[in-house]
Amino acid sequence: MNDIRLPAGYIEQMRRMLGESEAERFFASYGEPRTYGLRLNPLKFGPRDTGLFAVLQEQFGLEPVPWCKDGYYYRESSRPGTHPWHAAGLYYIQEPSAMSAAELLDARPGEMILDLAAAPGGKTTQIAGRMQGQGLLVANEIHPARAKILSENIERMGIRNAVVVSASPDRLAARFPAFFDRIMLDAPCSGEGMFRKDPDAVREWSESQVAFCAERQSGILDDAAVMLRPGGTLVYSTCTFNRAENEDTIEAFLTRHPSFTLERTERIWPHRARGEGHFVAVLRRAADGGEDAAAATA
Ligand code: SAM
Repeated sequence: MNDIRLPAGYIEQMRRMLGESEAERFFASYGEPRTYGLRLNPLKFGPRDTGLFAVLQEQFGLEPVPWCKDGYYYRESSRPGTHPWHAAGLYYIQEPSAMSAAELLDARPGEMILDLAAAPGGKTTQIAGRMQGQGLLVANEIHPARAKILSENIERMGIRNAVVVSASPDRLAARFPAFFDRIMLDAPCSGEGMFRKDPDAVREWSESQVAFCAERQSGILDDAAVMLRPGGTLVYSTCTFNRAENEDTIEAFLTRHPSFTLERTERIWPHRARGEGHFVAVLRRAADGGEDAAAATA
């Protein structure tokens, strides 16, 4: 993809963030081929299916994704998305970096979990694999047409403990105060990490769009905070590089919500790992509810 024309403001931003020498290596990654990934579905594919796995490995050239137990890189030309195994839900096609956030959410069977911005369902289906059919997974997508695609993917993957809803985060927050053990917020963002994969994201990028996204993310994070039970875990992720939508958004959130602590952040960079760009922050709410308790139960 050598023909990507990056916006001047974006180039400037990345030089400021990374420094000249690392920025050069970062920009050089735009000349590299993008990576392709799939995630095996543990609801349909057990540890004993070693024979079937060997066939898939051979056919698609599978190589493990280091940060996801069920994740594999595949050979682009093998096109697993067109295979009947895909229609049968044996695996989900997912960009390798995007597999990191749901791993860090660490969902457990029997829990109440919310995926607040869920379509088309990459993270929902990954979380459901961890839940093993036990507990409740609420998958929300604000746009009804995308919620339909989300439902289709949930069905294809054989998930039976998920409910799909299509509501704005503030409407959900009014219904589910302090309800969920874990919340995944894979926020709508400016998509800088997808430039190699998605030319529309390059065309739509602007500094004002970054500011707009950051403000929207803060609003959604506040709604998520209301819905998390004391002691619960909130994972925030984006597929963008700028600090405004990542570290700055999280820092401002922590100031507004002193009952939350930041457990860790992860970034995946295309010039340092085999994957597109991704940011993940893991936040925990104090077990006693802290200063947000009144807001959550009001
Ligand atoms: N988690 C999904 C996955 O892994 O397949 C990808 C989610 S995508 C990064 C962000 C989603 O947020 C989009 O589906 C978009 O429709 C939705 N969205 C857009 N505006 C929103 C808003 N104001 N509140 C909540 N979700 C929104």
